[in-house]
Amino acid sequence: MSTPRAIIPLWILLLLSLSPPTLQSNPTVCIIGTGIGGSSVAHFLRQYSPDPTRILMFERNGVVGGRMATVTISGETFEAGASILHPKNYHVLNYTKLLTLKRREPSSSDSFGIWNGKKFLLKTISARSWKVPIVEKMVSLVNSVYLFVRYGFSLLKMQTFVDDTVERFLNYYQAVEGRPVFESVDEMLEWAGLFNLTTRTLEDQLIDVKISPLLMQELITVITRINYGQSIYMSGLAGAVSLAGSGGGLWAVEGGNWQMAAGLINSSDVELHLHEEIESISYLGEYYELNSTKGSSYACEVTVVATPLDELDIHFSPPISIPKRKLQHTHATFVRGVLNPVYFGMDDVSKIPDLVGTIEDPDLPFTSISVLKQHSEKDFTYKIFSRKPMADALLDNIFRVRKETIQINWGAYPHYKAPEVFAPFVLDGQHLYYVNAFENAASTMETSAVAAENVARLILSRFFSKASLSSSNLKSSTSDEEHLHQDL
Ligand SMILES: Cc1cc2nc3c(=O)[nH]c(=O)nc-3n(C[C@H](O)[C@H](O)[C@H](O)COP(=O)(O)OP(=O)(O)OC[C@H]3O[C@@H](n4cnc5c(N)ncnc54)[C@H](O)[C@@H]3O)c2cc1C
Repeated sequence: MSTPRAIIPLWILLLLSLSPPTLQSNPTVCIIGTGIGGSSVAHFLRQYSPDPTRILMFERNGVVGGRMATVTISGETFEAGASILHPKNYHVLNYTKLLTLKRREPSSSDSFGIWNGKKFLLKTISARSWKVPIVEKMVSLVNSVYLFVRYGFSLLKMQTFVDDTVERFLNYYQAVEGRPVFESVDEMLEWAGLFNLTTRTLEDQLIDVKISPLLMQELITVITRINYGQSIYMSGLAGAVSLAGSGGGLWAVEGGNWQMAAGLINSSDVELHLHEEIESISYLGEYYELNSTKGSSYACEVTVVATPLDELDIHFSPPISIPKRKLQHTHATFVRGVLNPVYFGMDDVSKIPDLVGTIEDPDLPFTSISVLKQHSEKDFTYKIFSRKPMADALLDNIFRVRKETIQINWGAYPHYKAPEVFAPFVLDGQHLYYVNAFENAASTMETSAVAAENVARLILSRFFSKASLSSSNLKSSTSDEEHLHQDL
């Protein structure tokens, strides 16, 4: 015979569920968002502090990684959001080593053209058909000479401008012992000599270094449009970062960049709550009460917002105030099929460059079209970026064959406007932190990691002032991250 279970009256259960959540003996840090920002905060808290802090992470989606996500089209998987990393992105490089993730070269475009809606203003030669290394090298040399003839020494000046910005950014990798913990984004940028770049447009900065109008209107515009969906009137630092993202040595994580977030979460002893959106954050004196869409409440001494607040509806009590910021929406459209050469005034698809960039013209319906993979002579996977959704009729015009199409509307990055005004890292003067305050400087996986490292140090210095900021050995990933991820 089974033992009868005690029957608890419903009203007691109701009362229990309404009573305030109990505080744990170890302080609890709650992180909202499992992108590279949130996962990096967890990682650096564990790296820098031996305290047995409890870390809870909340993710509204069923997968981690946020804007690092993949898309599967016709059975093949590609990066859907953040795709490329710079060779000097040292935090993420370190993550790949720590988590033993394989790096790969991103799918490179063999030929490149600038389309103005009627014709190609510039078109480089493709080396692919030759398949002979020496010929490929010669073609690449011819392309360099061609670009030099068109843009002259402005190309070198652009490179110097980018190198100088990257050099200043490298200050953030100095040893923690000699590097301040920054209370505000302004202070953080001032210290590295980057703040002034956020106060003026990219165009103004480029005029200062005497870059020709032609280079600005063509190549540089193409790059800022591809990387941030914006023109050269965007603010200067984000503009410089986007130019850096078009240089050599770029890389990505084999199998998807999201694995960095998954690996960091797995190796940071985190209590992960997937499919749980935080709806409200209330400061109750000694702790924050977080309420989620699942009807659960959590008591957290420290709360970290690791997602842009601009399009969210989290209720804060007491209310917080941050500068208004608009997100730039980028529509990423993935197509398996073949472009229509007639749309580009060509007689054969092989004459269309692998990467088609565009200039600023409101009549142009897309920002870029690039080949992600060539499956056979007449079978490709393409990625199109546009500021507005691509209508079916338009796609039918641009493509001769379209076997499968997937569209994603990203609230992608801030719409950059100089002078940038930054939200605070500490939203309420207590222990409510905001990693994505830094996104007005530039939005990349690495800048999120850099901001997250500073926020982790801020938490340790402000809340756990006894914490040792030591560079202890990093733990390696347990690598059972597959269950954390699925395609969009
Ligand atoms: C199309 C595109 C291309 C890009 N290309 C590049 C590139 O090539 N290289 C590069 O470095 N960067 C690129 N970026 C930028 C890069 O993706 C971002 O800067 C970076 O990933 C931001 O990470 P994050 O952790 O700060 O935010 P996110 O990745 O946005 O993570 C925030 C997470 O919080 C979750 N969340 C939000 N609200 C709640 C809530 N209330 N409760 C629980 N969870 C919540 C979200 O679901 C999300 O998972 C690109 C972005 C896009 C969209």
